Amino acid sequence: MAETADVIVIGGGIGGLTTAALLQERGLSTIVFEKNSFPGGSCSSFRKGGYRFDAGASVFYGFNEDDARGTLNLHARIFRKLGVSVPTIPDPVQIHYHMPAGFDLPVHYDRNRFLECLYRRFPHEKDGIRSFYDELESVYDILNSLPAGSLEDVVHLAAVGARSPLKAASLGFKTLFSMGGTARRYINDQELLRFIDLESYSWAVQDASSTPLVNAGICLADRHHGGINYPVGGSGAIPEALVKGIEKFGGSVRFKSEVEQVIIEDGAAVGVRLKGGEEVRARAVVSNATVWDTFNRIVDDPRFKVPVERFIQAPSWFQIYLGVDGAVIPDGFHMHHIIVDDWARYDEYGGTIYFSAPSVLDPGLAPAGKHTLHVFVTAETWQWDRYDRHSPEYLQAKEKYARSIIARVEKILPGLQGAVELMVTATPQTHERFLNRWEGSYGPLLIPGQNVLRKPQNRTPVKNLFAAGDSTFPGQGVIAVTYSGVSCASYIARQLGKPLDYL
Ligand SMILES: Cc1cc2nc3c(=O)[nH]c(=O)nc-3n(C[C@H](O)[C@H](O)[C@H](O)COP(=O)(O)OP(=O)(O)OC[C@H]3O[C@@H](n4cnc5c(N)ncnc54)[C@H](O)[C@@H]3O)c2cc1C
Repeated sequence: MAETADVIVIGGGIGGLTTAALLQERGLSTIVFEKNSFPGGSCSSFRKGGYRFDAGASVFYGFNEDDARGTLNLHARIFRKLGVSVPTIPDPVQIHYHMPAGFDLPVHYDRNRFLECLYRRFPHEKDGIRSFYDELESVYDILNSLPAGSLEDVVHLAAVGARSPLKAASLGFKTLFSMGGTARRYINDQELLRFIDLESYSWAVQDASSTPLVNAGICLADRHHGGINYPVGGSGAIPEALVKGIEKFGGSVRFKSEVEQVIIEDGAAVGVRLKGGEEVRARAVVSNATVWDTFNRIVDDPRFKVPVERFIQAPSWFQIYLGVDGAVIPDGFHMHHIIVDDWARYDEYGGTIYFSAPSVLDPGLAPAGKHTLHVFVTAETWQWDRYDRHSPEYLQAKEKYARSIIARVEKILPGLQGAVELMVTATPQTHERFLNRWEGSYGPLLIPGQNVLRKPQNRTPVKNLFAAGDSTFPGQGVIAVTYSGVSCASYIARQLGKPLDYL
């Protein structure tokens, strides 16, 4: 065995890097192995033709600098602990929704302004709207007052229970409810309920009935408090700062280092084997890969295989990255948009268009007079299986499909088709290949009605093998996998005798 460390992390996504950074800062030695030459996975940036694109994520929570306003500002707390700075730009509108029948709704940072827009369209539902969004506020108030930690750590649970017994009990009770069920208690209007489903779908890729109320309490409330903030330099600024933090405290992130196997001896993880044969040993191993990739690919033991159907598999994405003539973007255009042409198709593949224009907030991402756009829709690998990825047919099919989506975006950006100067497309196969994600999936989802606490935590069936990232509680999203990294690091640090302080 070559190098040794206290903890090896497989994968330099936000979940893995957060785990490593917090452990390293606490004095536990870490090595992160990342298969790519850049950090961040689904939250990375790439350069092409003078543009810097967000590979995936671009709506960011958790950057509010004022700790007195609550505990959900995990990015701000972590970067302060690491002594690394990530400047951000406040986004005044989380998402601008464009829906059928002229239902057009920007979700303003200012909560009252957002609610006033809803009251105007649904005056008959004013009381219901207020009650539903107040219910989300009450969940948010609880979550925002509790420190982040591991739900598998009895010392943490006891501390939270002793400090805030009523809040902890109330939160436990609220985990029994879904976002959609709660909405339907207060609201009857079908168009409004569809919007609430779309609000959920925008981050969870499931309707509101399948989404836990507690998740909604963060996503739909914190946007009006901590707000949405975009890192200067693009999404890649977040993982790059985490890498800086890891290295600052003596840890290392080894790029172009794919882990082929977790080495298990006597039922416990003791290290990893890299592609090429190098073996590295550690006291604990953390996988930042998905649950399917971890247990069906890099843990080579049939006892731990995970049947694909154990979880609902979220779809993957067809993504388009565009460099465009800046004249096509009008003044005051918001950064994030969601477009639905037909309610009957919003949750079908390609039915909802996700759109962002990051250079609207950070002009440094594009050459002068140009803009970067990211447009994506849900898709599956089977839709693209028939093509050889090096064939002209594959390129033509990608181009044709991309053009059909760009034509639909003309609804909010007339003239877009003629303004495109650079186009990069990515199928689910691309997503799978770059990030080692099973069928390019967004990750495992909860079964409708399943309690959010049933989501896998950080411990796994293999002793000393842990998991961090979007296959674990609380799920998908950059702030969610950051929480998962915090809880994973907290659990391991206590096991290794160096418990973390609360952030
Ligand atoms: C198109 C798209 C848009 C999104 N938009 C948003 C958004 O606006 N806001 C938001 O909050 N979230 C968004 N998300 C979700 C968010 O980006 C993810 O949930 C989150 O970044 C996942 O982080 P992770 O650490 O779990 O995994 P990943 O990002 O998948 O990182 C895992 C890392 O592990 C590496 N790896 C895997 N296997 C190995 C191996 N065997 N050896 C070495 N390295 C390995 C991969 O290369 C990768 O770098 C979006 C996701 C996508 C795809």
